[in-house]
Amino acid sequence: MELRNLATEPIQADDETIRAALEDAHVPSLMNALVHLTGDASIIRGDVRPQAGFLVDPQGGIDPADQAAIRARALSVLTAHRDGQALPPPPSQALVHEMVCFAAGQELEAEYGEFLEAELALNGEDSYGVPELLALPAAARAGFKVVIVGAGMSGLLAGIRLQEAGIGFMIVERHGDVGGTWHQNTYPGCRVDSPNHTYSYSFQPHDWPQFYSSQPVLHQYFRDCAERFGLREHIRFNTDVEAATFDEESGRWRVDLRGKDGTAETVEANAIISAVGQLNRPKWPDTPGQERYQGITFHSTEWEHEHDLEGRNVLVIGTGASAFQFAPEVARKAAKVTIFQRTAPWMFNAPDYHAHVPDGKHWLLQHVPFYAKWFRFSMFWRMAEGILAAARKDPAYNETQRAISKENDQLRELLTMSIAGLCEGDEALLGKLVPNYPVAGKRILIDNGNWIRALRRDNVELVTDAIAEINETGVLTADGVQHNGDVLIYGTGFTAAKFLWPMRITGRGGKTLEGRWCGDARAYLGISVPNFPNLFCMYGPNTNIVVNGSIVFFSECEMRYILGCLKLLIEDGKRAMDCREDVHDAYNERIDEGNRNMAWGISKAPTWYRNDKGRIAQNWPFTLREFWSQTRVPNPADYVFT
Ligand code: NAP
Repeated sequence: MELRNLATEPIQADDETIRAALEDAHVPSLMNALVHLTGDASIIRGDVRPQAGFLVDPQGGIDPADQAAIRARALSVLTAHRDGQALPPPPSQALVHEMVCFAAGQELEAEYGEFLEAELALNGEDSYGVPELLALPAAARAGFKVVIVGAGMSGLLAGIRLQEAGIGFMIVERHGDVGGTWHQNTYPGCRVDSPNHTYSYSFQPHDWPQFYSSQPVLHQYFRDCAERFGLREHIRFNTDVEAATFDEESGRWRVDLRGKDGTAETVEANAIISAVGQLNRPKWPDTPGQERYQGITFHSTEWEHEHDLEGRNVLVIGTGASAFQFAPEVARKAAKVTIFQRTAPWMFNAPDYHAHVPDGKHWLLQHVPFYAKWFRFSMFWRMAEGILAAARKDPAYNETQRAISKENDQLRELLTMSIAGLCEGDEALLGKLVPNYPVAGKRILIDNGNWIRALRRDNVELVTDAIAEINETGVLTADGVQHNGDVLIYGTGFTAAKFLWPMRITGRGGKTLEGRWCGDARAYLGISVPNFPNLFCMYGPNTNIVVNGSIVFFSECEMRYILGCLKLLIEDGKRAMDCREDVHDAYNERIDEGNRNMAWGISKAPTWYRNDKGRIAQNWPFTLREFWSQTRVPNPADYVFT
């Protein structure tokens, strides 16, 4: 796979090619691109405009006849552009705000203007870099050493940014390759379930083959990024960070490494960036008797590809995002698949979930100036701020197990209708599939009917009785039925709540991170922890998202903030910055209060977002704009410098 930047190629195609490509256009994105190309704002000021109901129709409900008229107009604009017509001056800030509101299908507060303009990078500026760092002496930057733990999406991003900033760094990676979760999770059917055109670095857009590409494609993207940005030589593969200890005298970290071959080494660093991810250590249930099982057994994240499942009798525990993807694949091969569901997930029907990006859309993304940016925006919005409100409790609403607001109930109706449609009158199945908690109480899974079609196969059974025990031959459920199988696959998720585990991190006063957290991890902005100076987390506590957006966005915000911190340290020649306890506490109180008002904070459904202490330690409860604003520049007053 070659990394391909978008909208970089001049238009040379004939009229017919352009006309054909326009048939695949996302019309709202095309309309905004036309404003850039013509300077004519009237294109987005008429009656033809997307409505906020993006969830149902990606074209925002624009009438087909109106779509055709826009395409016809686009043909004449694009051919004129091809034939040499110059671009008008860039749109004013006010017009960009109007375009953003148009694309979102709703009026947005003024604060969104700056955020979205930056996110869209319409002026070509990289809004997640910290160019001021480059003004600092090169020797001071190069002499500042950072150890990055992990070479997944966040760790690679950290490396790319430190490389750009001229700061010395080393990446330590447990595996023999980059890619993190995309390297590790190789189960059949694995694919990204956020729209791919937003699940990519802002500075490295890519012409994705599918709207939700498969794991090998994602893995290759990150491998190519490592290559393109020259990171491999900085990565210590097959090596674990076992421990890190802060030395108060020198203000530096001692980082203990252990290679797969057993070799030990200690390196020193001014700062550590933990980019270890959360979804890589399998969570095994503690079901009575599970050690007695005699068949083939493995966890989804450690898929044992050597076993041919053709003709087997397979048992699957779990109906989360992983099982949702692999169980239908297993069902295509196995003689029988029995799936054990404890809690039904809400699912959102995305018809393009398995679709390939059509040729015309590829052409538009590659050739039409600004189209790719607005398409990215529409995907970003569709799964983000666009539906966050429906996950928030309305204090005036008479909250029930069913819903927490009118919008939440409407979303329930919509999703239930879509589930019912796919069940095609199978009431027994429908009864098992409609969740008994508010929408967004757990992660909403993306599908195109693949899951329900799999459940309706003759060789698939969905069991909703509780698991009583696992024994030599299979699973015994509470109704006394024994379900035998010669393969047992655990789709039971990850030990996400054990942040940074099993590294032993020791900060000031010999205190360990594990001891501080006691299973209830908290950090300021998800990044900094008091008494652990110059330790920065990416994808740390409360930086996960349930409905709103792509985790890459969060990592980019976090890394910009970390760069800002490093700038403060380097420019003032400080050794260490330590987050103030009161700032940290006030922040976490606000987060907890925010989560208490969200569906995932209210719902009693089991979720990996909630830790053993009962606290939502994973989720960011506010808007993307707020995370963007809060992490934009570190406030020196939040830290004690030494
Ligand atoms: P998960 O969401 O935690 O789901 C685990 C499943 O196992 C749930 O259905 C859970 O039931 C069930 N389970 C756990 N312990 C059980 C027990 N003792 N008895 C019966 N059932 C049990 O894990 P996941 O599916 O691996 O997904 C984790 C996260 O990874 C996702 O939320 C997502 O963020 C990410 N992910 C993303 C993708 C993607 O982008 N393509 C794919 C996979 C995963 P309960 O619901 O009752 O707890």
